[in-house]
Amino acid sequence: MSDPAEVLEQLVAMSQKLGDPTADCVILGEGNTSAIIDEESFWVKASGAELPGISADGFVRVRFAPILRLFEAEDISDETVERVLAEACMGKEGERPSTEVLMHALLLQLDEVNFVGHTHPTALNAILCSQRVEEVLLGRLFPDEIVCCGVAPAWVPYTDPGVPLARRVATSVQEYMIKYRRRPWAIWIQNHGLVAVAASAEEAVNVTAMSVKAARILLGTYLMGGPNFLAEAHVRRLTTRPDEVYRQKKLGFEL
Ligand SMILES: [Zn+2]
Repeated sequence: MSDPAEVLEQLVAMSQKLGDPTADCVILGEGNTSAIIDEESFWVKASGAELPGISADGFVRVRFAPILRLFEAEDISDETVERVLAEACMGKEGERPSTEVLMHALLLQLDEVNFVGHTHPTALNAILCSQRVEEVLLGRLFPDEIVCCGVAPAWVPYTDPGVPLARRVATSVQEYMIKYRRRPWAIWIQNHGLVAVAASAEEAVNVTAMSVKAARILLGTYLMGGPNFLAEAHVRRLTTRPDEVYRQKKLGFEL
């Protein structure tokens, strides 16, 4: 079991970095972050809290069990969800987690996943909100993109936020794990944003930063005749080269 205060400290630092205005990943109340404490509970951003400049008060500790029951539940009316969220909260009376709490609970159940950072980066959303997003989904542009974000993101077609989105994310992650035999590092949600799925707080920040850089480069290529994606053999090679694996470990990635 991890020390809840220590986990919270790392989560606050990670969230402040993701919320830093210079990163252009969120404004106002956009985005949400979480970190696992133990088998029973996790920290997640409180409803209404803002990532830019967030402090420990901006997070609530919640129990997994009541929230995970929503995954299978037939009744996901607003009233039922509200009751379950109230039941799951371990903090002060009246506190509520972010509406994306089920998505966080599901992702934190994956092996080696300890931190989740969901943002709406402007550069990446220019792609996720475009007509051509599916054509660029499987293309990678440069070695560091693969080192930090993997061979491909998991893809989630637009879905209503909250429980429906969490269920669709779970399906996409399962499909990804069957196809690539590992968990994703980055999840792209159509017309919505990015989810960094990470072993460490540092990894979540790195996945997000590199996703934003790759998005900016991709957008730039469309001014120069379009992207020149790396050949599949080069992409595969970059995931197995000993020096690249070493670099991934140095960047905080757990392989
Ligand atoms: Zn969102």
